[in-house]
Amino acid sequence: MSETEMKLVVVGAGGRMGQTLIRTVAGMEGVRLQAAVERPGSPFIGRDAGELAGLGAIGIPVTDDPLEAFLHADGVLDFTAPAGTVEFAGLAAQARIVHVVGTTGCSADDEMKIRAAARHARVVKSGNMSLGVNLLGVLTETAARALAAAQWDIEILEMHHRHKVDAPSGTALLLGEAAAKGRGIDLRDHSVRVRDGHTGARPQGTIGFATLRGGSVIGEHSVMLAGEGEVVTLSHSATDRAIFARGAVTAALWARDRKPGFYSMLDVLGLN
Ligand code: NAP
Repeated sequence: MSETEMKLVVVGAGGRMGQTLIRTVAGMEGVRLQAAVERPGSPFIGRDAGELAGLGAIGIPVTDDPLEAFLHADGVLDFTAPAGTVEFAGLAAQARIVHVVGTTGCSADDEMKIRAAARHARVVKSGNMSLGVNLLGVLTETAARALAAAQWDIEILEMHHRHKVDAPSGTALLLGEAAAKGRGIDLRDHSVRVRDGHTGARPQGTIGFATLRGGSVIGEHSVMLAGEGEVVTLSHSATDRAIFARGAVTAALWARDRKPGFYSMLDVLGLN
């Protein structure tokens, strides 16, 4: 065990991403698992984190005391839910450590609290931690800038597994923000999140979202730029949650020597 290894805590350790993160940390160089956290009352408390993730015993029992875990760590990997993430942001700021946030569905108020915590913690937050989707964001921005709003309509389609609780996905919103940036508009004033019944014709310059849910789909996203007689489609398929986990660990290592602040995956990947 090296002293220079970054000590990481996985919160939401029993979740789909939590288990993937535990396996990924075990398999990557320069990092090691310091602790695994679940909420008080969770049936996973006290269970060995390695066993939970299908690795076999690693001698780290899942705890319900995040602050104690954070005080002995260099960073936290957080793919949980907005209420948990806001709490963990405050604790990561107290412990002055890196906080990598993959949680989606945060409200404007949640976002404000996480950004406030970034005065003391190094926060990296992204609706998608994969290289592929962040590159897709850059391509979307370029395409939206190149193809004029008067002739080209932008629609974003996503599909996820049946357990997903927020919509549109954090990734769809990330792509929507990229398209809005390319068009020089504010997404909040131009997005169409639902269509139902007699909606009338499509308002020019809007960015539409469509959400599909079902089965075990990890994440499918397409940005369609639809013009007269032609459609340009930019798309990404995730077939393994490990892409998000590897991105999160890469973000933690990148943020280790940064100043406190709020960063995105584009900063980590040098795409900004
Ligand atoms: P999941 O399987 O439901 O796991 C979430 C875990 O977090 C569960 O173990 C849950 O425990 C725990 N949790 C929830 N609220 C908590 C709280 N307040 N305190 C402590 N623990 C809490 O969900 P998932 O599929 O792993 O996804 C988790 C999040 O990551 C979602 O927001 C998802 O959209 C996002 N995500 C992001 C990316 C990305 O690249 N940014 C990629 C994939 C997923 P309980 O079961 O007890 O509630």
